[in-house]
Amino acid sequence: MLVSNILFVVAGLLLGLTFQGGMFLFLIPVAGVAAALGYMNLPRVPGGKTATIPVISNAVRATGITPSISPDIRNSIKDDATEYNEPNSTLRVNQFWARTNADVNKATDDLLQGLKRIIPNAYSLVVFSPLTNFREWGIRSFCSDPNAHLATDVKITENSGLVSQLFRPEVNRLLEGDLMGGKTLLYYIDNPMIKSLVAVPILDREKNRIGAIVVDSLYPNAFTQVTAQALTYIASNLYTLSFKSFASTKNYIAQQQFSVLYNYQHKFFQTMSVKDIYRQIFEYIKENIPFDRMMILALDKQDANSTRKDRGGSIVCVDGIDSEQFSGKKFTLSDKGLAVLALLKNRPVERMFSSNMNMYVPRIDNNEKRNMDIRQLFVMPIATENNAEQAELAICLESRTPGRYTEHEMELLKAFAGVAGFAYARACQFEQGKDLASRDGLTGLINHRTLHETLRTEKVRANRQQYNIGVLMMDIDHFKNVNDTYGHPIGDVVIKGIAGAISGEIRKEIDVVARYGGEEFVVGLIDTTPEGMLETAERIRAAVGKLEFDVHQAAPLRVTVSIGAFLVSPEFHDMKKAVNNADQALYKAKEGGRNQVIQYTVLEEPVASEKEA
Ligand code: GH3
Ligand code: MG
Ligand code: MG
Repeated sequence: MLVSNILFVVAGLLLGLTFQGGMFLFLIPVAGVAAALGYMNLPRVPGGKTATIPVISNAVRATGITPSISPDIRNSIKDDATEYNEPNSTLRVNQFWARTNADVNKATDDLLQGLKRIIPNAYSLVVFSPLTNFREWGIRSFCSDPNAHLATDVKITENSGLVSQLFRPEVNRLLEGDLMGGKTLLYYIDNPMIKSLVAVPILDREKNRIGAIVVDSLYPNAFTQVTAQALTYIASNLYTLSFKSFASTKNYIAQQQFSVLYNYQHKFFQTMSVKDIYRQIFEYIKENIPFDRMMILALDKQDANSTRKDRGGSIVCVDGIDSEQFSGKKFTLSDKGLAVLALLKNRPVERMFSSNMNMYVPRIDNNEKRNMDIRQLFVMPIATENNAEQAELAICLESRTPGRYTEHEMELLKAFAGVAGFAYARACQFEQGKDLASRDGLTGLINHRTLHETLRTEKVRANRQQYNIGVLMMDIDHFKNVNDTYGHPIGDVVIKGIAGAISGEIRKEIDVVARYGGEEFVVGLIDTTPEGMLETAERIRAAVGKLEFDVHQAAPLRVTVSIGAFLVSPEFHDMKKAVNNADQALYKAKEGGRNQVIQYTVLEEPVASEKEA
């Protein structure tokens, strides 16, 4: 009696130890066997008359079990632990899970081996656990006689064979002593004429039946109620232990994930540019989550006039399969791809594609290059506010390996999306703020100050590559009349219309246009010739002249502009002076009758420009 009590204490102690971070799984079999010994009170302790702790360890040794996690596995866990704490380490969640799983399996195997040694006449010991759901059990571990042929891929379902009785809530143990065929044991390939069997269910915390421990024997009446009791005890510990191990592994992983996220949060908040946010999302994925293709989709900034469905966006980042096909690809929210769907609904999308499926489900739209090798897709939307109707970004991950994205990775990505969404919103706001300071609210063109900054940087490049910059200064003719006749609001519409006409005649992304004053505009033509500059100026003048503004009168309102032009050659350096020169030419154009282009010439003011050169 004393021996068994102490064995329980030891079992408890060992179980307690195993809870420490899932790293002492090797104690499971030792604890299990100590517990079983305690239950069965088998006098297996060599010389065990006085039950002291050293005796217990002898008792355990008597079972032939040695702690089974090899030192290198334990060390590798520790190695990884430090590795995970480094900012740029790779979080190999799946590997870590796989290892915990292997550890639990190994511990269970050892437990069964230990039990086999202490249960007299046992032929096979089998642990069943759920396959894909609780209604199907398969063999997780077993320890059997060398002559036994176990059907390791057996599926135990309700109403199939003897063991399946344990699915029934009222059956808490099976104890058979005179099996004579008739009752099927599905887990053997041959029929070894099993005479005795004891089996108990493994219950989870909600008392769901999630498996069973089965022990059988070729001898009749090999087992007693005590054996069944011991198995019940072990079954509950087995559940608790593996559950706790996984739970603590999960905690451990969660902690590491947190530290990685924390690091990214820091990185995120050091950047204020939207492009850097894209880059950091990309880096994070690359370091932490495996993929065969990864894309980041971004919606264009919300335009007040556009409705939900016709917002557009593009792929801002792509890596992996067919990346050149997808890079920069545009889409709208009405496209039917899976990645677009996640954006539209602000909902993660996960799909598995089976290898015999002929149908292709588009990721973006129907025109994309189809890759039939991809087996799994996971799209995580990134919204900039909680419960947003639609997301602003989405990360689309695809893999050739089915089941590569586990719940774990999805949760990891979800946590990351929260941080990324916040950082993205901040960067957008910042860029918008910067925009407000550098751009004119009415026309969206850059302002006076930004023009000078831009011209300065453009001039540096022009000098390096020895090309000209054409400067055009323009002013609306008789604009006071427009205001006086139709009112300021119409005047504003005209200004906006002219800004649009000018932008339409120059090269986007290359040339520069600014609203320089109330109704004055400056254009910088990058890398142009005297003829090119004048042609463009003429084109602008003509385009403005063609504009028609509806002023609720019989005839639409038309306006004209006068333009002064100055060509900045590589020898000319003062860009402020250049704008001034264009302004002087503009004055001449006004004097000359308006609605015309006049080029500033050196002859008019020879000293000034010569000096600059
Ligand atoms: P000119 O052909 O000589 O240029 O004649 P003008 O009447 O256009 O003369 P000027 O260029 O001096 O006129 C500037 C006028 O533009 C004065 C002002 O009322 C108007 N204006 C300036 N900024 C704005 C604006 O933002 N909105 C509107 N509606 N009018 C503006
Ligand atoms: Mg003016
Ligand atoms: Mg004017």
